[in-house]
Amino acid sequence: MMPKAISRFVLLPVLILAACVVDAGLAAPSPAEVDRLHIFVSVLPLKTFVEKVGGEHVQVQAMVRPGHNPHTYDPTPKQIAALSEANLYVRAGVPFEHIWMERIRSANAKMQVLDARTGIDLRSMDVHDQGDDHAGPVATSDQENERHTAVEGDPHVWTSPRIVKQMAGRIRDELIELDPRHAQDYRRNYDAFVTELDTLDRDIRALLEGVPNRRFLVFHPAWGYFARDYGLIQVPIESEGKEPGPRALTALIEQAKRERAKVIFVQPQYDPKFAAEVARAIGARVLSIDPLSPDYSANLRRVAQAIAGAAGK
Ligand SMILES: [Zn+2]
Repeated sequence: MMPKAISRFVLLPVLILAACVVDAGLAAPSPAEVDRLHIFVSVLPLKTFVEKVGGEHVQVQAMVRPGHNPHTYDPTPKQIAALSEANLYVRAGVPFEHIWMERIRSANAKMQVLDARTGIDLRSMDVHDQGDDHAGPVATSDQENERHTAVEGDPHVWTSPRIVKQMAGRIRDELIELDPRHAQDYRRNYDAFVTELDTLDRDIRALLEGVPNRRFLVFHPAWGYFARDYGLIQVPIESEGKEPGPRALTALIEQAKRERAKVIFVQPQYDPKFAAEVARAIGARVLSIDPLSPDYSANLRRVAQAIAGAAGK
């Protein structure tokens, strides 16, 4: 009686455990996991775009990790090594790529490289127009100078949903070429993403409609394409990664006072100290908006709301 009960209690867990072990042993990775395209992108929003179009067939990593600055980023040796497994690299022409692109390409000769800016009407980077007496802490080394002279146009193309639609079309075509078996999925995902972007575009237009003051003050001018699409003017504080010198700063403060700016926008990848100093001088507050958020649509809605709010709508 007793031994029988014990044996049942002992045996049952053993059987369950054995079943689990057998199950785990047989659970080979699903075909979807094996077949996934390995894709690297330069910045986080691009990761979101590739995932929107690629769905379950892609595994995407962003080179510039969260919290880091694409203007000064250096890929880690681990990231460069991981490129040997990649099928595709999607570049956006952000400044670190001007220095690193050759290394990135040579890490894997078979890897395709898609330039997300192809066919996009690039604008030039906004600079504050109050003289050239920069006194910033950066751009002193040769490498920094190279970063800045190598920049061709404003690299922050993804802040415009209209441009993202174009980029999504190129991503779709590239994925179909690399993985024609899932062409239907890529087309369907692309269509859904375009619908999302169209809705986003309409929402932003509605949020910014009737905002009387179309100018907004921003530390790092990452919002040029957004501003161009929605009839806004970004007024940058820094220029090409450098803080303005004392003369430019005085002029800027005078200008901000005249325009009665209530908010200075900063982004998390930059030290807000300098913007806070300007804000104090003009009695404005500092508000953070992030051009590198992976949560693309919700983030852009928040940005439109913040700009409308700062303008007093
Ligand atoms: Zn930037």
